[in-house]
Amino acid sequence: MEALSCQHPNFADYDRIVIGFSGGKDSLACLLTVLEISQESRSKIELWHHLIDGKSGGSHFMDWPITESYCRAVAKHFGIPIYFSWKDGGFKREMLRDQTPTAKTYAETPNGLVSSGGNGPDGTRMKFPQVSANLSVRWCSAYLKIDVAASALRTDPRFEHSKTLFITGERAEESPARAKYATMEVHRADCRNGKKARHIDHWRPVHHLDEKAVWDIIQKYQINPHPAYHLGFCRTSCMKCIFGNDNQWATVHAMDPDGTESLMYYEERFGCTIHRVYPIKERIKKGTPYPTSKGSYAGIAMRDYYEEPIVLNHWELPPGAFGDSCGPS
Ligand code: SF4
Repeated sequence: MEALSCQHPNFADYDRIVIGFSGGKDSLACLLTVLEISQESRSKIELWHHLIDGKSGGSHFMDWPITESYCRAVAKHFGIPIYFSWKDGGFKREMLRDQTPTAKTYAETPNGLVSSGGNGPDGTRMKFPQVSANLSVRWCSAYLKIDVAASALRTDPRFEHSKTLFITGERAEESPARAKYATMEVHRADCRNGKKARHIDHWRPVHHLDEKAVWDIIQKYQINPHPAYHLGFCRTSCMKCIFGNDNQWATVHAMDPDGTESLMYYEERFGCTIHRVYPIKERIKKGTPYPTSKGSYAGIAMRDYYEEPIVLNHWELPPGAFGDSCGPS
């Protein structure tokens, strides 16, 4: 197992440690890394999960139905609080913006819900995010995750006059763009020299790790990975991630034909496909569903309540480990 970075920040310097927790292996490795370095810091940790489809009330346009419940189950297992945040209306409302401002963001906090935004300039999307490393074209990551977190950090008064360590799980191995990310930097929501003295450092503890090292630490703690990995997906991004390959589109179509066809409808309506060349319909034809798409994990992934164990007595690498790469999240 690759050694954990010995150059970690001193957790004693911070009032709290916020871990961006998607439910995927890299953010899980971040949590385990922090606990491995310092169990005493456990009381400072909180997990944040950004709901891609907004507070959906059970309807899922892009994301795995099981993800929210899986994240809650992991947090409960470790006795760590988890807070959810989202853009009102989620992915679908942002995609369907037509001369309207981007929607408000909401974030749960220990003291209730905070919200911000919703009164910006009018803008029009009426198209899916495009497969690109450029976040202004691949708007989903920026508008539904990065900005939602930054808004919560700027809006919640408990971050003022205090020091926060904000942690995310990007790894250099994933893409040339991610390789350029700093392991430690000042967070974009930091305002340490301003009146509000909001000190926020951004640490990427697994940036240097390869995929094997990530699975090694998950195996060490015998943690049951998100059902998507058991299905054969190499990452727990949105179920219908724009970076999905042909086999993954065929798999999600086999598991959720109605949901996938609603995306096909919007590709036709917009006259603009997610992939620059092939519409989802073609990609499904070219792909082969994973054999697991008809198995028990398909049922688990499509439920919105997670009842499986978080710790496995007989841990094995899931089929998705070291699988097809499918882009950043
Ligand atoms: S997982 Fe894929 S579709 Fe979802 S926000 Fe990230 S890049 Fe966009």
